[in-house]
Amino acid sequence: MRININRLKQDIETLGKIGYKEGKGITREAFTDAYAQGEAFVSRQMQSIGLAVRKDGLGNLYGRLKGEEGNPAILVGSHIDTVPGGGKFDGAYGVLAAIECLRTIKENGIKPFYDIEVIVFNAEEGEILGGTFGSRGLVGRVNFDDPAMEKLLLKLGLDPQAAKRTKLDSENTKCYLELHIEQGGVLEESSIPIGIVTGIVHTMRFKISVEGAANHAGTTPMQARDDALVKASRLINWVHDFSLEKGEGFVGTVGKIRVLPGAINVIPGEVHLYIEFRCIDEEKLRRAGMEIRDFARQLAKTKIRYVKKNRGISLNKRLQKMIENSCRELDLAYKYMPSGAGHDAASMGQVVPSAMIFIPSVGGISHNKDELSRWDDVEHGANVLLHTLLSLQTNPDQVLSGADGHC
Ligand SMILES: [Zn+2]
Repeated sequence: MRININRLKQDIETLGKIGYKEGKGITREAFTDAYAQGEAFVSRQMQSIGLAVRKDGLGNLYGRLKGEEGNPAILVGSHIDTVPGGGKFDGAYGVLAAIECLRTIKENGIKPFYDIEVIVFNAEEGEILGGTFGSRGLVGRVNFDDPAMEKLLLKLGLDPQAAKRTKLDSENTKCYLELHIEQGGVLEESSIPIGIVTGIVHTMRFKISVEGAANHAGTTPMQARDDALVKASRLINWVHDFSLEKGEGFVGTVGKIRVLPGAINVIPGEVHLYIEFRCIDEEKLRRAGMEIRDFARQLAKTKIRYVKKNRGISLNKRLQKMIENSCRELDLAYKYMPSGAGHDAASMGQVVPSAMIFIPSVGGISHNKDELSRWDDVEHGANVLLHTLLSLQTNPDQVLSGADGHC
């Protein structure tokens, strides 16, 4: 059984016109008119194949295909909101491919064993609500008791009480699957059409303040200087070389820096910089944290503060194996890889067995109007999703062994 790429392509193109501006890409942020239009389109597509459509208190949209009575549901989806000036594949692909899979299953006269429900998570990109809002809310990772959150939700047109009450029925959820573009260049570079996502990386951030001595830039001789920025630049280079040395799957970035007093004729007396490390291996990350402290301390008088640590998640191994089997059935090459970006699957994986499938992004470009994936790859990814859904149906006894993740 195969999906119909022409139908899927048409859906992606149609949704891709909503919020699109020539030369500027797609701006379809959650809680906007463009988003409502996008949702209406997706909801019509769901209804046209007879799915039962509903919305929850968090603004997540669902379309359910009934299986046999009393069985749990398989959730499959992604998001349809975009960053300002985004592309037509990020998120939308996962939602529309899921609908195309159900369309294919229906037209082949298959009545599923489990319910299969397409889910469109609200405000995945949503800066204002902190990203992956719909999925975090569903698994109880949004603090709805915060008065600021309550105010914000009212302003956005969501009922805070209804949002707070909305929870995933994890007892009646078999698993969650998400098909997504890679948003990086690993698959394209290795000419592999399918990525099987092992997990979502952990993130560790530090703020480091490097102290020096501010002084007159004209009257202070070179050998008498204690230039905080010169020392900080050694630290920046160290982060880059250190991360490069760690090899594939480890990244380190200094993306934000502040120089004080910040005047053209004053030797920098103080520099604040932010360092971010990401890696799927938590132990590696912990050691990196210790090494950066050591290096910074011997370099200069520094203050080091942990800013944030986001625990990533390991995705379900049994589901990864099933995706691999689907690739074999379809004769497609695959690669096991972590995701460097966050996704709704990171929330869902904390509560139910979850998995993700990646397809290549041309040039590794995403969150950009030039984001692109090849139609061949779009087709392959959707077929892998279809076969995985089918094998979950035909092997109903398999135990997925609970959520593999943690928070
Ligand atoms: Zn996305």
